[in-house]
Amino acid sequence: MSRSVLVTGANRGIGLAIAAAFAEKGDKVALTYRTGEPPELKATGDGAILPVRCDITSTEDVERAFTEIEAAHGPVEILVANAGITRDTLVLRMTEQDFTDVLDTNLTGSFRVAKRAAKGMLRLRRGRLIFISSVVGLSGSPGQVNYAASKAGLVGMARSLAHELGSRSITANVVAPGFVQTAMTAELGEDRKKQILDAVPLGRYAQPEEIAGVVTFLASPEAAYITGAVVPVDGGLGMGH
Ligand code: NDP
Repeated sequence: MSRSVLVTGANRGIGLAIAAAFAEKGDKVALTYRTGEPPELKATGDGAILPVRCDITSTEDVERAFTEIEAAHGPVEILVANAGITRDTLVLRMTEQDFTDVLDTNLTGSFRVAKRAAKGMLRLRRGRLIFISSVVGLSGSPGQVNYAASKAGLVGMARSLAHELGSRSITANVVAPGFVQTAMTAELGEDRKKQILDAVPLGRYAQPEEIAGVVTFLASPEAAYITGAVVPVDGGLGMGH
């Protein structure tokens, strides 16, 4: 059965790997991109690929994207709220704008798409909401007061959704990656990269495909009884949190 999947921020990095993993399974995958060109992904089997331009900080964009996706693929059955940004700096240098911009994308942006997806899922009486958080949402991290707050917020949001929507067979789960080899981590300085690798028991970064594998599992029939979970995919970095 080809399912209607939406992955936000899927023109690169982890989002692209997640979209590709669903496409490989023969799903109908809508993927949002905000800037540049949409990625080239091939559909398999009964699947289809629909790139949609969408900035998740705009409620109008989100509404337009869902209308387009529903017309092409039907109601979204699986939402992966992946789009996210960082604006790292130490707290005394962090402006209120740095804080609210990160919250508006990572947390409120995920709320915007989850709320809109829940509407269709409630009618369908099934659905999977999957939020891409981060190990630092639980452990905190210097220079990431804004980012860590946004990622911790996703946990409370997902668990509240799990309570609200569970009776309609809609699950809400969080994936908390550690450090993954993408443009986001390429920005880190060499000293910080070494510090991170020293702290990761597995001694390496994750590949985006390793996050995608956990996401597709949470969307699978085998995961139907998992809700409100926070699944770490962090090479052991967050153990104890
Ligand atoms: P990238 O920076 O490579 O990609 C981020 C994606 O989010 C891009 O597609 C970007 O679009 C999109 N995006 C950003 N802002 C918006 C917006 N306002 N509206 C729509 N799309 C937007 O990041 P990663 O792939 O590394 O990260 C993906 C997710 O995983 C993020 O939520 C991140 O916080 C999380 N994560 C990443 C980790 C890592 O080590 N890389 C670790 C833990 C969590 P555009 O190209 O247009 O900017």
